[in-house]
Amino acid sequence: MAYADKSTDMILLVESARMVDPKVYHPERLFFLVSSARHFHAELLEKGFNAIYRKAPTTANGIREVQAELAKKNKGASIPILAAQQSSYRLQATLESLGAKFVENDFFLTPRSLFLSWAADQKSYLMENFYRKQRTRFGLLMDGAKPLGGQWNFDKENREPLPKKYEWQPYLHHKRDEIDQEVAQSLGMTPTTTWATTRSGALKALKHFLENHFENFGRYEDAISSENWAVHHSLLSPYINNGLLLPGEVVKAAVKKFEGGDIPIASAEAFIRQIIGWREYINGMYWHLGPDYKEANHLRANRKLLPLFTDSSATKMNCLASTVKDIEDRSWVHHIPRLMILSNLALIAGVNPQEFLGWMRAAFIDASDWVMVPNVIGMGVHADGGQMMTKPYASGGAYISRMSNYCGSCIYDPKKRTGETACPFTTLYWNFLDEHADEFKGNHRMAQQLAGLKRLSDLPDVRDRAKEVLRGLEKGTI
Ligand code: SF4
Repeated sequence: MAYADKSTDMILLVESARMVDPKVYHPERLFFLVSSARHFHAELLEKGFNAIYRKAPTTANGIREVQAELAKKNKGASIPILAAQQSSYRLQATLESLGAKFVENDFFLTPRSLFLSWAADQKSYLMENFYRKQRTRFGLLMDGAKPLGGQWNFDKENREPLPKKYEWQPYLHHKRDEIDQEVAQSLGMTPTTTWATTRSGALKALKHFLENHFENFGRYEDAISSENWAVHHSLLSPYINNGLLLPGEVVKAAVKKFEGGDIPIASAEAFIRQIIGWREYINGMYWHLGPDYKEANHLRANRKLLPLFTDSSATKMNCLASTVKDIEDRSWVHHIPRLMILSNLALIAGVNPQEFLGWMRAAFIDASDWVMVPNVIGMGVHADGGQMMTKPYASGGAYISRMSNYCGSCIYDPKKRTGETACPFTTLYWNFLDEHADEFKGNHRMAQQLAGLKRLSDLPDVRDRAKEVLRGLEKGTI
């Protein structure tokens, strides 16, 4: 829209049947994306733009159809295509094959070429190094050349579990209008009121976060609770990823709120890092690592996707059942359940990375290729052999026990690694280290974990229990 001229240009939105297949994608995700696009189309018409919303079997089909129609109307004139840089290799190639010209995508703050030149100079792709450059480049939370508050990040302050009794702040509910109802009906589903599908709804969600949750976002950023599905997370990623909000305006609003004086720097820094640091870094890495990266399977993990990922009743593990139920309900959980529960299990159970990636891509409301491929292949399941992260995010039940209230009411015990009540995370964690000990022995960041493995006196029992756990997970009985 930013580049369109009302008098000469036609804005085309294509609803590709391939991308809205209800057999593949979570219904809440489809509802959100289709309804947002339909609302956007209506908004464009209201603002006086020429805009077409076309349903087609694929994006390429839709573009070709409209191009041919416009050419006919214009007596055979050629119809050039201008597009933003795409969010996946596949779409980028499709648009290129149609002869499109590209402009920078304003869904991001970092020109692709700038990230690629940064990455080309790095020995290891530490996000922290990139993030510091971003802070300096944008002059955000800076005191001259130094970081405001004397440190670049406040991670250490931001790892608090929630107190036992906690006063939860409310989250917004979004009313459904006629377009929403039509879309829901066409998809044969009933949406929640969790996600806005309009620009004005997304702006309300931003305001609501800043006023109600921003203050405590940082300190409880990593906490998980069975009593509250969102804790203090912003719930803005779907909007920033589909364009209802732009990252720049979100950062600007957050800085303004912080400068008002009510927000601790640890919260402001953590939130701004997610947007100018992590989000930009992940997108940059997707384009830096290349189209074949998504096929990586360095640890040769070939177990089929476990039934618990698609059915929350297929497990007795409290943390997994609750996390997957939240995804079934709203197509979203925050970054710690994604990393330390879902991806951690896929990693230590040896689930095939591409099967797991396919599931994550389909299940989450904010998923796109650019975000899911590096997050799953590199960070989640270490399938790239450490190209992106220097060590795998593998952990036993102790981490989940510390950061959540799941373990108290679970039939398993996070401290046990053998026996029928052993926590599957704890058993599989040691078994994973044992199976890959040779792979990790040269990695100094894994030295402490491997030293712990050497001290285990019951390793044969752990191996036996791991076999039982894996069989149970495959059958959906663990
Ligand atoms: Fe999850 Fe293990 Fe805790 Fe149960 S004991 S909730 S399986 S981490």
